[in-house]
This record gives sequence, C-alpha cells and structure tokens, in this order.
Amino acid sequence: METKTKDEKTNSCRYCQGTYVVTDPITGDYIRAELCQCFPSPCPVCRDTRFQLEQDSMGREMAIACPECETRKRHIKLFNRARIPKNYAQSQLLRSERDKNNSHIFHLLTTIIRTYPKSKNISLPNSAGKGSVSVPRGLVLMGAPGTGKTHLMAGFVYQCTIIHGISCMFRPFDKLLSELKEGYSTGKSEMETISPLLSADFLIIDDLGKGRNTEWELNILDTLITERYNSNKPIMVTSNHTESEKTTIKERLRTKDKSEEDKFITDTLYKRVGERIYSRLREMCYFETLEGPDRREIKSGLSRTTVGAN
Ligand SMILES: [Zn+2]
Ligand SMILES: [Zn+2]
Repeated sequence: METKTKDEKTNSCRYCQGTYVVTDPITGDYIRAELCQCFPSPCPVCRDTRFQLEQDSMGREMAIACPECETRKRHIKLFNRARIPKNYAQSQLLRSERDKNNSHIFHLLTTIIRTYPKSKNISLPNSAGKGSVSVPRGLVLMGAPGTGKTHLMAGFVYQCTIIHGISCMFRPFDKLLSELKEGYSTGKSEMETISPLLSADFLIIDDLGKGRNTEWELNILDTLITERYNSNKPIMVTSNHTESEKTTIKERLRTKDKSEEDKFITDTLYKRVGERIYSRLREMCYFETLEGPDRREIKSGLSRTTVGAN
C-alpha cells in the first residue's frame, strides 16, 4: 500500500491534515516529525505486531514490515535524519505553496521526485552524458535572497522522505563547514562527517557560495560533488549567486576607511565556485532561477534596506 500524498487527504485531522505525520518546529534546531496522535491504535493492518504476512511465489508465508505503521515510521526517520532547519516547518511542497513565481520550479521538483528510480538497481537514462546508466539529474536553484529557494528545497525533502521514502540530507553550506571544523577539533575525520552526505539518495546543499570561499572550502565542495557524481547520485543546490552579474548577490567589501566609498563584489556562480565545480554541476543538474519579491520582507512588512544581507 502506498502512503497517500498530502493532497489526497483521507481524514480531516487538524494536526496532520490526514497524513498521520506531524512536524514540530519547537524543540531543537531542526524540525522533528512524528506519528500523529490520530493514527489508529492498534494499527488496523498489523494489530501492532508491526508485521504483515504475505505469500511468496511458492505459496510460503513470510513476514514483511507493516506497510501502514512501519513504513510511516521509517519515512519519519528519514525526514528527521535529513535535518530541516526549524523555520521551515511549513515547507511541504503542497499545491497551496505554488504561485506564479515558483510554479516552474515546483513542476521540476515534483518531476525529479516522480522519476527518481525507486529500485536501487535501476538507473535512469538522462542527458548527463554518461550513457544509459547515469545519475538522475539534480537542480541548481539560483536567485536573490528571500525568493523562497530554501523553502522549496525543504518541501522537496518533505515529499521525498515522508511521502516517498527517498532518503535526503540537507545541509546549509556554512553549517557543514563549521561541522567539519568542529570535527577536526574532536579528532573526527573529514570522511566521517561527509560520508552520510554521500550515501543519501539526495544531497541538498543550501546557500552554496556563502562563506569565505577559501581553497579549503572549495576543496570540500569539490569532494562532495565528485563523490556524488562517481556514485551516480544526484545533488541539489541553492545559491544567491546567479549566472549574471546583474542578478547575482552583491556583497559589500569591508573597507577600513569609513570615508571610502562602498565597494561591492558581484560574483556569478561560475566565478564563485570555479570552472571545475561549475562544469560538473552543469553536467549533473538542471539550472533554474527563482524570481520574485523578497518573501521574508513581505511577511515582516520591512522594506529592502540592506544589500546582500541573507
Ligand atoms: Zn492527525
Ligand atoms: Zn501496522
């Protein structure tokens, strides 16, 4: 039995709207999902034994994990492991979140999920140029701060994990860097920190290009992208850096002399990450730009006062 999608709600629980899964943004840095209290007890399929008996082709009975309660619990675990930041509890990629600015991205994200090979043995043919067995395409989502890139990616993770049981890892790039540095100081190797990011079905790197852009930072990025590429696994990226100097993020250079005029750098994504990483991303991902007003400013009623703030 497939888990119903959130848009095909079957009951009217006001906490979970029929998905039997609730997300709690209150505790900790990340959203936690759990089974909603409306989930029937005992489980209508397995009577809480957690297993269901099925006959194999020889007519022998075998126990499989209950598709109702156990599958849901497994999907919840996948969501909690992905680490969605606490301010994105409302991000679920539902039709109600769709509007004229983001509808092309919505369509692309749902297509990526729909066409993702459910069986680990099947690879999709695509245009990544590696023959018929190749990595399903990911997405580089560019756009100004506040256009809703992270919101869409967090919703993508919700759909992948909770609805479809596809594993994801979500990391803001700067957080990943601090995690690595913290690891060094406690004797944890780079690979120990990175390997969960390599094994997930989807890796989502949020805010690529944020940071000081040192050689070390670019090396980490290169490792992640190359390793994913070599194991035929897609990568998803958001970035405030776009492909044109006109629309990319403006960063104010700090000048010591206050009387000096403000100087800005306007790195395109290509300039920011360098040729090698850029061309690899080009090969692995769709490139799309999200336009529109700063949604955070609309929400808080503030006017645009800073340039390049995130
Ligand atoms: Zn409920
Ligand atoms: Zn059950």
